[in-house]
Amino acid sequence: MTDALSRMLETRDWLMADGATGTNLFNMGLSSGEAPEFWNTDEPDKIRALYRGAVEAGSDIFLTNSFGGNAARLKLHDAQGRVGELNRIAAELGREVAEAADRPVVVAGSIGPTGEIMQPMGPLSHAAAVEIFHEQAEALKAGGADVLWVETISAAEELKAAAEACKLADMPWCGTMSFDTAGRTMMGMTSADLVELVEKLSWKPLAFGANCGVGASDLLRTVLGFAAAGTERPIIAKGNAGIPKYMDGHIHYDGTPDLMADYAVLARDCGATIIGGCCGTTPEHLRAMRAALETRPRGPRPSLDEIAQRLGGFSSASDGTGDTGDTPERHRRRRRS
Ligand SMILES: [Zn+2]
Repeated sequence: MTDALSRMLETRDWLMADGATGTNLFNMGLSSGEAPEFWNTDEPDKIRALYRGAVEAGSDIFLTNSFGGNAARLKLHDAQGRVGELNRIAAELGREVAEAADRPVVVAGSIGPTGEIMQPMGPLSHAAAVEIFHEQAEALKAGGADVLWVETISAAEELKAAAEACKLADMPWCGTMSFDTAGRTMMGMTSADLVELVEKLSWKPLAFGANCGVGASDLLRTVLGFAAAGTERPIIAKGNAGIPKYMDGHIHYDGTPDLMADYAVLARDCGATIIGGCCGTTPEHLRAMRAALETRPRGPRPSLDEIAQRLGGFSSASDGTGDTGDTPERHRRRRRS
């Protein structure tokens, strides 16, 4: 029996994912020092409302409120013993909302980074990272997640550990990295590096791509990079709603629903199959994105100039993949071989 996401990918040529869990929970009153995952048990109605907000705005896939639900992250809140409970309930609430929908909706169990640096750069071993991710993966599975969704990863090592954990849990998965440093991830991965990495994994993701990062324009440049690397695997685009700006004591994203509608259609033209938002994306943005994806025709692959014109400029001159002057030696060497 195939999983719910694979079935959906077989019959549709684009899918809409959800917006930002954090942004929407802050809008519901979460304070910045609080672990969002505690709301799974303390404020379940607000979590149901979060999920329902995405489903009612047209999302085909929504992510569970479990991004920071691994033992390493929960330890900061002295809650490392609650991984099983908090993740299971995150998925159970998701299941409940998905079952009540009038169309098929995929519940994706969100798995964020551990927050620790992996060996050889840092102290976290591969085995320890696999164990951390596996504990969370099993709990999301037990709660009824259709697929696991590893997101905002910076290091290749961490994505490999997460993939292994998904395999141990015998769960299909998707994986996205955050390309937030002049087109690369914080740990130096380019879009082409991710395409190469994904095909080398023994437990391959159903889809892969980019989330968060800088703005919508940068994210689409990364999607163009995936497509240029010649991948056959569905590409995920989950970009922020514009650029974060500090206003009146809080972070505000400047992307309007109209801008995100343009972003969604351009993401599809760039080659993305699963399109959603990240930080700053609310149900209002999602509704505009859904309407645009349903009503506007597909276009040719946009140029970088077109993307910049419609969505705003890029944060850096290059996406880090080319042989530009600032390309690290490591990368130039490998490309020549
Ligand atoms: Zn984000």
